[in-house]
Amino acid sequence: MSAASPDLIDLYSDTQTRPTPGMRAAMAQAVVGDEQSGDDPTTLELCGRVAGLLGMEAGVFLPSGTMCNLIGILTHTRPGDELICDHQSHIYGTEAAGAAAIAGVSIRAIISPHGIFGVQQVEEAVRPVSRTAPRSRLLSAEQTTNFSGGAVWPLAELQAVRDVAQQHGLKCHLDGARLLNASAASGVSPADYAAGWDSAWIDLSKGLGCPVGAVLCGSAAFVEDAWQWKYRLGGAMRQSGVLAAAGVYALDHHLEGLRADHENAQAIWGVLSGCELFQFDPPQPASNILRFTFDPSTIGAEAFAAGCLTQGVRVRSIGGNFIRVTTHLDVSASETESAAQTMLSVALALAEGV
Ligand SMILES: *Cc1c(COP(=O)(O)O)cnc(C)c1O
Repeated sequence: MSAASPDLIDLYSDTQTRPTPGMRAAMAQAVVGDEQSGDDPTTLELCGRVAGLLGMEAGVFLPSGTMCNLIGILTHTRPGDELICDHQSHIYGTEAAGAAAIAGVSIRAIISPHGIFGVQQVEEAVRPVSRTAPRSRLLSAEQTTNFSGGAVWPLAELQAVRDVAQQHGLKCHLDGARLLNASAASGVSPADYAAGWDSAWIDLSKGLGCPVGAVLCGSAAFVEDAWQWKYRLGGAMRQSGVLAAAGVYALDHHLEGLRADHENAQAIWGVLSGCELFQFDPPQPASNILRFTFDPSTIGAEAFAAGCLTQGVRVRSIGGNFIRVTTHLDVSASETESAAQTMLSVALALAEGV
């Protein structure tokens, strides 16, 4: 079964959503202008909405979350500086080393169980100022923690690592690809999570269901600098209101759906956690991501993913014999239930060697 098959239950990622008819209509009707000149009203509306949501002064529309991270790094650092983030973070492992290749920044990775590190670990990662060491300049944290299993930072812990980094003179960047999932899970507002961070962004193309886009926010001065990098990297657009309209539509119509995604993740966990073959890590999903592994001598993650795909369910093998399963707008509660049963039967069959 191909990934494009209409019958496929695609839990590979929450990037697999297709724009809904309502979203497509909003895009078709968008009022547009020249974004590069600051004249696209719909893009301006989207940036204002997201900045407001995050309690930041300003925002800039970018094609992707990856560019939000890269521009955040470029704006806060100079070549030769060092960035501190978790070892399973998107910046470290999934952005083609943009920090190194384009910003000239080295990364000091913290090892933590679910992407949630502590004050002590930040203290240890910050280098004493010297002539010979790279300068520790930027801390990045993910809310929620993607490849670490969709964990949600408790607000106090997030604030604590921010405070200690800032006390050492570092800037702080919040990779909020799924920040709105964190808020849906905890009830803490996105603005409370982002308060005091020097930059923060949300992705539109994950749980919000847009085809493209992300908004990077910070102070007005930060966004001015970010704009120059956007232009320089070729990320400045023209009638981007067609794309931004999807984001505005999603903020109006898709926030509630995040809660349903989380319920669906719990439902999958409810079915699979009863089977001892599945080892969940984190032990229970906190948002729309489940991560589990198997005893590798019994079930290989690749074989499990391949077995599920032949049964019409797509999951993602993410290395280290881990499977990541992500719920989203395009997977209903009943499809979720059916996918969970499929995963269970595939695992049982593999364990029996049939
Ligand atoms: C998806 C993701 C990104 C990158 O976003 P894109 O829009 O896919 O470029 C960055 N950080 C995290 C935590 C993500 O999950």
